[in-house]
Amino acid sequence: MPTARLSVLGSGTSTGVPMLGCRCRVCTSTDPRDRRTRPSILLRFPAPPEPAPPAPASRYGAESSPAGILIDTSPDFRAQALAAGLDRLDAVFYTHGHADHIFGMDDLRQLNSAHAGPIPVYANESTVADLRRVFRYVFDDNYPHSAIPRIAAHVIVPPDPITVAGTIFEPLGVMHGDLPILAYRFGANAYVTDFSEIPAPALERLRNLDVLILDALRHRPHPTHSTVANSLRLVETLAPRRAFFTHISHDLLHAETERALPAHVRLAYDGLELDVEI
Ligand SMILES: [Zn+2]
Ligand SMILES: [Zn+2]
Repeated sequence: MPTARLSVLGSGTSTGVPMLGCRCRVCTSTDPRDRRTRPSILLRFPAPPEPAPPAPASRYGAESSPAGILIDTSPDFRAQALAAGLDRLDAVFYTHGHADHIFGMDDLRQLNSAHAGPIPVYANESTVADLRRVFRYVFDDNYPHSAIPRIAAHVIVPPDPITVAGTIFEPLGVMHGDLPILAYRFGANAYVTDFSEIPAPALERLRNLDVLILDALRHRPHPTHSTVANSLRLVETLAPRRAFFTHISHDLLHAETERALPAHVRLAYDGLELDVEI
């Protein structure tokens, strides 16, 4: 089985943690795992899946870099990509069009230099509409400025899979309050952020995984997000080998929360890296 390196670029909720202006015990914690940027993950494959096309000598050197697949471009994307040493991106999958998941899209332009042609971007119909509205200049052929990302947006519909860099990505429909959004399964792993409910067809595809990354915002109920208790129940039902909670608010102190969790369930943190089977 080929493996990929999964990096949690950001594990925080929409505000990030610390939250601006807050002096609570989590926002002032000195544990680096309590510093959470906005949510995103990156998958990297150990070697390019296909021989790279001949390219002119470039200071980016990305022809020999591992293939990279990103899920969401958070407002913190540039800093996250620098921290992860990202220099090649083969595709972006979007979960939904909320600001904390898309606002870093402009910074994809720097990775165009390392990519032959526009970067393919996959999202459901409403998210593609959000991207076109929020980043109108990116999709405007008459925009008189060359320093914009070159993007090829594709609408995807669950459960139709997409193959990128030799890997199958399966979009799964989940509910984020009233908003239908996408989770993704790749190999025996899945990323399920920003959900309040997982309909049966998606649940069926999330059973017995190796790694399951799940939204668990906080303990108190929230209309559009899962809680620690709810996500724990799901982990019991779905029985992944390992589960990681993400999209975490400033209500949860990392060390204290983990002490109350079973050993195979952990809180994700920024910079967490996992080897996963694809
Ligand atoms: Zn979010
Ligand atoms: Zn959201």
